[in-house]
Amino acid sequence: MVEVLTHSRIAMRQTCPTKEWLWYVERLRPREFSWALSIGTAWHTALEVWQKGEADEDGAVAAGLATLDWIRPESEEEQYKLDLERARVEVLIRVAIRHFQQRNLIAVEHQFELPICNPKTGRKSRKFILSGKIDAIAEDENGVLWIIENKTVGTGLETFRETFGLNNQYSLYYYAVSQLYDKPIGGVIVRSIAKTRTEPKRKGGEIVESWNAYKQRLWEMYEADLDRYLAEDIVIRTPEQIKQFQEELWMETQERLWQAKTGVVRHNLASCNLYGGCPFKPLCLGVTDARETLYYTASQSHDELTLNETA
Ligand code: SF4
Repeated sequence: MVEVLTHSRIAMRQTCPTKEWLWYVERLRPREFSWALSIGTAWHTALEVWQKGEADEDGAVAAGLATLDWIRPESEEEQYKLDLERARVEVLIRVAIRHFQQRNLIAVEHQFELPICNPKTGRKSRKFILSGKIDAIAEDENGVLWIIENKTVGTGLETFRETFGLNNQYSLYYYAVSQLYDKPIGGVIVRSIAKTRTEPKRKGGEIVESWNAYKQRLWEMYEADLDRYLAEDIVIRTPEQIKQFQEELWMETQERLWQAKTGVVRHNLASCNLYGGCPFKPLCLGVTDARETLYYTASQSHDELTLNETA
């Protein structure tokens, strides 16, 4: 059976081969709810319908927020969290739509599948293919293509920019577009907007600001300091960087074949406690009944291709 490699899958194996195995091969997902994933889905859905010309600003907001409708709060605290995130994501969507530059889009949510070739011989892998979903592709008046990525950012924009040089996702998309289109590529336009931690005003512990007043305050906060919260940056990849990407992509396939041959899936213990801890720690620690109680089995391996991937 041919296996699909995406940026997320390759990156997860770099983090930890066992984590990637549990996620993509066994399709285990933590039962614990992820706000980051839900907000990312709402944001991407809104921008997708807007970019496709299927909805105006209000319609895009409605489409984005509708992705959160399945959430059923079971306490006042959960209801507050839901209302808070709905207000925040609505403001993010409206600010982005009003300020992201309009471009001539020739593709939106473009999903691709490409062979993976040995860069030395040109031979195609029989076991692996490369896949992904690009937020949008624009063509300018000179016939140059631009890859567009829409991101919500939890850190400040300056910190986020520090990731551009070594981000493999941009190299992968650059390579993919160079294979799909016979046109020059200008670069990747990373459209980003910073999330906020601001909450409604309180007095004596009680909330004293309506949700509409809160949204208006957030809106004014973004508008007053737009450069701090919103950016469109151009990221370039050189032919040498794309060549290196191709070589490493082929190496990725060879390492996976070796892993399958030996039957040994390595544990990267240096990753277990990063970013709040790996969700599979209970499994690796051998906690009794962890598999049955803490995880469910997803129907598909690649959430990043079937869902609107998180920011
Ligand atoms: S807990 Fe550690 S070893 Fe286990 S999957 Fe996560 S990162 Fe890998």
